[in-house]
Amino acid sequence: MEWSRLTDITRIAYFSMEIGLSQEIPTYSGGLGILAGDTIKSAADLQIPLVAVTLISRKGYFEQTIDAQGRQHERPSAWDVAAMLELLPTRVTVTIEDRLVVVQAWLYRVKSPSGGVVPVLFLDTDLEENTPKDRAITDVLYGGDAAYRLKQEVVLGIGGVRILAGLGFKVFQYHMNEGHAALLTLELLNQTRNLTATTWTETLEYDRPAVARRCIFTTHTPVPAGHDRFPYDLVRQVLGEHLVPLTTLRELAGHDELNMTTLALKLSRFVNGVAKKHGQVSQAMFPGYEIHAITNGIHPLTWASPYMMALFNRFIQGWALQPELLVRVDNVPDEEIWDAHQGAKAYLAQYIQEVTGQKLYLDVLTIGFARRVAAYKRNDLIFHDVKRLLDIGRGRLQLIFAGKSHPHDESGKAMIQRIHDFIRQLQGQISIIYLPNYNMDVAYRLLPGVDLWLNTPIRPLEASGTSGMKAALNGVPNFSILDGWWIEGHIEGVTGWSIGAPPTELQANNSTEADAADLYDKLERVIMPLYYEDRPGWIRVMKDAIGKNAYYFNTHVMMRRYVTEAYLQR
Ligand SMILES: *Cc1c(COP(=O)(O)O)cnc(C)c1O
Repeated sequence: MEWSRLTDITRIAYFSMEIGLSQEIPTYSGGLGILAGDTIKSAADLQIPLVAVTLISRKGYFEQTIDAQGRQHERPSAWDVAAMLELLPTRVTVTIEDRLVVVQAWLYRVKSPSGGVVPVLFLDTDLEENTPKDRAITDVLYGGDAAYRLKQEVVLGIGGVRILAGLGFKVFQYHMNEGHAALLTLELLNQTRNLTATTWTETLEYDRPAVARRCIFTTHTPVPAGHDRFPYDLVRQVLGEHLVPLTTLRELAGHDELNMTTLALKLSRFVNGVAKKHGQVSQAMFPGYEIHAITNGIHPLTWASPYMMALFNRFIQGWALQPELLVRVDNVPDEEIWDAHQGAKAYLAQYIQEVTGQKLYLDVLTIGFARRVAAYKRNDLIFHDVKRLLDIGRGRLQLIFAGKSHPHDESGKAMIQRIHDFIRQLQGQISIIYLPNYNMDVAYRLLPGVDLWLNTPIRPLEASGTSGMKAALNGVPNFSILDGWWIEGHIEGVTGWSIGAPPTELQANNSTEADAADLYDKLERVIMPLYYEDRPGWIRVMKDAIGKNAYYFNTHVMMRRYVTEAYLQR
């Protein structure tokens, strides 16, 4: 597509600190970035006029290895930028610590079989004109200290708006995917400044409503660490007062520290959480703002295993561009669903053999658990009562784990070690595998190949969760705490199974004891008998995971909602 065709349409500018399109461009850490990638792909499929902006993250997030003691080690995840992306000629500058830092952009075109194209701009400061320290600003996703993060967010938010303008993009809405990009509001505010005020003693006039009319903000987590805050001393030093004086910034972003979420909330006309429950939780966290809810999704063509894809192509033509058609999954014969799943399981077994040398038994119920390792995810809940787990599962259960912990998260790293201790303890009794370096490629093999997908977060901290949707698409039922998307997707015994108490309105209802007991009870009395003794009954649940979960929890449905409820709403 010609460049002019990219820039002559007025677009929604979608800003995200991380974007995960494929493992060849590892500029993501986890769910947030993969959601951004899936969002962009569905926008291309649906021909929604979007342009995406992110950082180049030349060293990615990190690659994980795990040593014999279960300790995580991190290596840079460098990638070949020039082989994947096209360098654009336009450059802009941003002011950081009173220096001009030059920013360039690389282009990737996300192309859909529908003919739609979404340009993605990767911002980069690795230019000779910049000091060595500034050249490294766009190196490591979520790396470094607070100053490094703030500099990255200046490049993303302010540099992003400027480069879009420099390249000739016409933007009618700015969508901030999480608060990292919220400094873009300051650049927009500055553009509205009343130029008749010429001195600092005069009150500068900004047109806040004009900025808010152009901004949409999606908040992604109730966990405090997910909301960036910076002390004003640092803000003064890094950002200065070029765009707005600190007194104004304090009114907009919090008196004591710059809170990126507050800034985004104050300057957006539409704000949403990422599942119904998360919308309510966010509403309680941010009184005074109207918080909507648009439930996350996954991009079907990206996440269907080759086995399910072949099946859907035969029996549900058109499913990839219109995933609602998956509602017709009952047209697929039972044996075909089972065979496709066993194919994915054998493919996973081969991968596990290559990576770990361990054997996966194809006729043993296999539970998968892979996601970021963080305290609130309770990745080790299934080991709460090892004796009980052994009683139920000896020889009849296999577990597969995967997940990285943020390099600074000591409790997460300790959890990885603890899981490895359990693996050793249970050796020869229950086969447990920890796949290292969880990423999109690992997820693509792992999710479709297990029989049951487990999630055990502390309520209500799982804002949405998306891996369970990827599982459902592949006929893998969920077995999870009622939190995030699963509150909306769960029909007991039909689409999968719940663990523990139902969510009470806005009140956490967490008892690790009770949750673990329910997990064991249901495994023993409901799930394992169904899997081993009633194959047709099990396949019924597999089909309903596809027909009643995957047909709806996808980024096509999600993007149609963003268009009608946010982008085109006045
Ligand atoms: C889907 C995915 C995630 C997000 O999973 P959650 O269930 O939302 O935690 C994280 N990492 C990878 C590699 C994924 O594919």
